[in-house]
Amino acid sequence: MVKVRFAPSPTGHLHIGNARTAVLNYLFAKKERGIFSLRIEDTDIQRSNKLYESSIIEDLQWLGINWDEGPVRQTERFHIYKEYAEILLEKGFAYRCFCSKDELDKARRIAVAKGIAPKYDGRCKKLSKEQVNSFLSEGRQWVIRFKSFMRPIKFDDMIHGEINFPYDHVDDFIIMRSDGVPSYNFAVVVDDMLSGITHVIRGADHISNTPKQIMLFHAFGGSAPLYAHHSLLMGPDKKPLSKRHGVTGIKDFKKMGILKEALVNYLGITGRSMIKEFLTEEELINTFDISSLSQSDSVFDMEKLLWLNKEHLKHMPTERLINEAGLTMEYKEKVEALKENVKTIGELKEYLNIFDGDSIDSDAMEYISRINEINTILKTVEDSVEKNKAGFEDIFNNIKSKYSYPKRELILTLRIILTGKKSGPPIKEIFPLISKESIIKRIQCIKKSFSIN
Ligand code: GLU
Repeated sequence: MVKVRFAPSPTGHLHIGNARTAVLNYLFAKKERGIFSLRIEDTDIQRSNKLYESSIIEDLQWLGINWDEGPVRQTERFHIYKEYAEILLEKGFAYRCFCSKDELDKARRIAVAKGIAPKYDGRCKKLSKEQVNSFLSEGRQWVIRFKSFMRPIKFDDMIHGEINFPYDHVDDFIIMRSDGVPSYNFAVVVDDMLSGITHVIRGADHISNTPKQIMLFHAFGGSAPLYAHHSLLMGPDKKPLSKRHGVTGIKDFKKMGILKEALVNYLGITGRSMIKEFLTEEELINTFDISSLSQSDSVFDMEKLLWLNKEHLKHMPTERLINEAGLTMEYKEKVEALKENVKTIGELKEYLNIFDGDSIDSDAMEYISRINEINTILKTVEDSVEKNKAGFEDIFNNIKSKYSYPKRELILTLRIILTGKKSGPPIKEIFPLISKESIIKRIQCIKKSFSIN
């Protein structure tokens, strides 16, 4: 039975890069009818925060990424890591290291000065049993280091194919610190091993950790899970996506009116070449294939996300959309008229203002200020609306018959007078829903601004 895990560290809110890892694990588990588990990797006590943990959980729930097992917290499992570190000590796969920070810093400085990569030289590996016992009885501080294998390590990555590491790729790394806190690589292996994880799907930034983890699995007498290291999401400047690239937090996307369906869809197809891109969750699951993910990094494409959002908005039952937007059923007709033409829920709400509002956007007012004979156009619109609310075509033809305005310019001018905006859904479609009061108020507003009586 396939079993995967999503293992966020609660050191910040869920951002689009981590969310992609979660989505890929989720789709894979669903496709394989396997188990998706959630593990909170909170061993970095300084940087981890319970508030981030609840925030991540809340965002996963919002996205509909439901887990079958967990959340398991690593800080609740320190006794287990201790037990397993002792097993490695007993079996001779690990040793106690008594080197002080000063000694290690000195060795590091020397290596850097010589231009070689600093590596622990393994001096405590050679300590005799007696020396270890005497250091222990002196009460010296110690950490546990893993005796790295002096042989090349290779693995078959489901996305990258075979990845090789030379025999001296890694030094004897720490698995347990002096305060009893396990290192990241050690805790991951103990947890993946004990919970029976079959596939590890995570970001390519973890490739360099994989040989350490594989060695640990082997030391425990087991075999490592299969790995799939997906490429990372980059900003347009090809640097790892971060806050300076604009919206990256899941909460921010939600706030801006992106639907969870669109986000999951976007994250599920990014880095894959798809014949059809607009997909429901079911279609995403059915077409999911982890090995089809690109080996190279993907640039985050806001335009595509907005396009997918538009498609999902269009296909969403109006009742649900009303609910998502926090509106009441009174708005049904208006939402129905707008939903085909908006990119986000935020835009939907903004456009609702067209029907009952009275404002004119500043760029729209600026455009109007350059239109000749604006007062006569205003008068014609006012008359037609005042008398009996004429249709848009009538108003348009009425003006067109009197003045020789280019068609596009006239439509834009009328759009501004009627909606207060330079762009928006097809004016003919929404015109019948705009209240007479709103149109009159907008006309007054324009007149006032140009001192027309
Ligand atoms: N906690 C790690 C991270 O947030 C994940 C480690 C893993 O998936 O093995 O990057």
